[in-house]
Amino acid sequence: MQKDNSTKFDTKVIHGSQGPSGLRDVVPPIHASTIFTHPESGMDTSRDHYTRAGNPNRRQLEQLCATLEDGAAAFAFSSGMAAVSAVLQSLEPGDHIMIPKDVYHGTRTLVHNIMQRWNLLFDEVDMTDLDEINNFIRPETRLIWLETPSNPMLHITDISAVVDLIRKKAQHIRVAVDNTWPSPALQKPLNLGADISMHSTTKYLGGHSDLLGGVVITREHNEISERILQVQQQIGAVPSPNDCWLLSRSIKTLAWRMKGHCQNAREIAGFLQSQENVTKVYYPGFEDHPGYQIANRQMSDYGGMISFEVDGGADRALKVVNKAKLITRATSLGGVESLWEHRLSSETEGSVTPPGLIRLSVGLEDVEDLKKDILQALR
Ligand code: PLP
Repeated sequence: MQKDNSTKFDTKVIHGSQGPSGLRDVVPPIHASTIFTHPESGMDTSRDHYTRAGNPNRRQLEQLCATLEDGAAAFAFSSGMAAVSAVLQSLEPGDHIMIPKDVYHGTRTLVHNIMQRWNLLFDEVDMTDLDEINNFIRPETRLIWLETPSNPMLHITDISAVVDLIRKKAQHIRVAVDNTWPSPALQKPLNLGADISMHSTTKYLGGHSDLLGGVVITREHNEISERILQVQQQIGAVPSPNDCWLLSRSIKTLAWRMKGHCQNAREIAGFLQSQENVTKVYYPGFEDHPGYQIANRQMSDYGGMISFEVDGGADRALKVVNKAKLITRATSLGGVESLWEHRLSSETEGSVTPPGLIRLSVGLEDVEDLKKDILQALR
């Protein structure tokens, strides 16, 4: 697709990548070849000579992801965690980072168990509190990692406010946002001043619980994007051409899937709130949610994720989850099918998730069927 800044998101997801192959196919082929012939002059210095370095399907996917978030460059990985790792591996030993107190538990585990061994210094910070962020900045600080809405507590962080604070303090500190939960359909961190946006494409971008992937999108071509490219090509945690093709295909329906997820979640959140044995519902679309005003500014809708607590703690939450007939008892999120889980059972030591919390990824089923299932499970 020709670069045209006025093209709307719903059009970009469909026409943003899979262009004609030069043959007469409307849908591009999967380039299974791991190798590409060298020119007679010698080895090709572009990325497309060996699939770990680059592949036409991956290039298409990366161009698409960069376009969706108005970024300069995108780098696809074989999982969301490989994408998070690439950002952290672009730093130096002795650098200091901040991660949210309630960050996705996989990111926390990676920082604690692996990155710490490589001498990455870190603090866990309440990212909704700008003073706290300010107090933790030190000369070695190089990265602030945000996640908003957060997983699973749905805390909302003001991305622009964090960026403003950081820019005033130090130009060399980068702001990265794990944008997995809202997806680019609802939130564009790079347009809010962040340097890096990251996704587990396993979730909404993939949308069908049938592929694992990650992507890092950078606002500029700069030293950070060069380093992330280096990690991608040299460590090699890259997605297969098949997965790149499948993901590009899934993204075509992202805009409409997100409209459905948001609509169903809005209704289910209100429904849960009216249930007697539900003690708290976490959903940023409620006017009394502490991040409601910020969410209205930086998101175009509130997303498809809801967390809620039931009375009776972990035992009761497990019972509720086990009683579902339609909602699938599984971890993960962002698929067309509704999923829920007793969240603490999936998390590791150090989690701040309340014991009675159920995390629900609202799918695209008929909302009345979902309500019926929730009602019988809560009884
Ligand atoms: N970030 C968030 C917010 C997630 O929810 C997840 C997975 O659940 C990840 C990152 C990791 O992604 P993956 O499982 O694709 O490695």
